[in-house]
Amino acid sequence: MPELPEVETVRRTLNQLVAGKTIESVTVTLPRILQRPKEPSEFADMLAGRTLQSVERRGKFLRILFDGLVLVSHLRMEGRYGVYEKDEPVELHTHVIFHFRDGTELRYKDVRQFGTMHLFKSGEELLLPPLNKLGIEPLEESFTLKTFMKVLSNRTTKIKPLLLNQEYIVGLGNIYVDEALFTAGIHPERTADTLKRSDWKRLYEAVRTTLTRAVEAGGSSIKSYVNGQGEMGMFQHELLIYGRKNEPCSKCGQFIEKTVVGGRGTHICTKCQPLRKIRTLKLQS
Ligand SMILES: [Zn+2]
Repeated sequence: MPELPEVETVRRTLNQLVAGKTIESVTVTLPRILQRPKEPSEFADMLAGRTLQSVERRGKFLRILFDGLVLVSHLRMEGRYGVYEKDEPVELHTHVIFHFRDGTELRYKDVRQFGTMHLFKSGEELLLPPLNKLGIEPLEESFTLKTFMKVLSNRTTKIKPLLLNQEYIVGLGNIYVDEALFTAGIHPERTADTLKRSDWKRLYEAVRTTLTRAVEAGGSSIKSYVNGQGEMGMFQHELLIYGRKNEPCSKCGQFIEKTVVGGRGTHICTKCQPLRKIRTLKLQS
């Protein structure tokens, strides 16, 4: 599932490829993608004649700004956008096509069909679901160590599910939570209230650097990230622990384990991320 860095990369790429274009018409072949309005003809009528001004991001959602309207798009598992000439063949699993007046098309493809689109009047989108209950943006200046601790540090819940909860901090998913906890040397099953200030500081810095590096990796490879069909998708970032089960840990060499925390597959080095402090037994003579 795309997380903050992937969505940010799609956002930047879309800004380069489609900002300034005006919609002629919209074709919807899988109405279930549409959450608001649910009726494809109403959705298409609202967008016809609108000019796409810019693409913004809130958490893992894209906010596609038109004059007077905002399209909130979530890619979920497999959603992808691509930009094509109108005479190029339409690929399988393409569910929504935005036809522009200049003869190009923005196509939304989604093999798993879990993606969603909500259309709002400008400004309304932040007051209503799905964006109204989202937490802090971890790459904005408002995300400080103080706000991070204020939001999470008194909770008795395990740290991994807390970091995944979009009502507190947005944008982190299974991959970057595992990466950040490994970088900070914190076991994903520790409850938030057991973390010391020094733990929070390491975790705060790990969240910022993990996401920043991934965004930079995506941002710097924008051109190669769009394939021959002009399609944008997940980019492969160099990951330290996620997906590396049974490989040696880059810090200590111990084999990386895969377990389940809060129902999610979790990668961990038990040496670098101890659950409890190892007490050295004093041998009595
Ligand atoms: Zn290790």
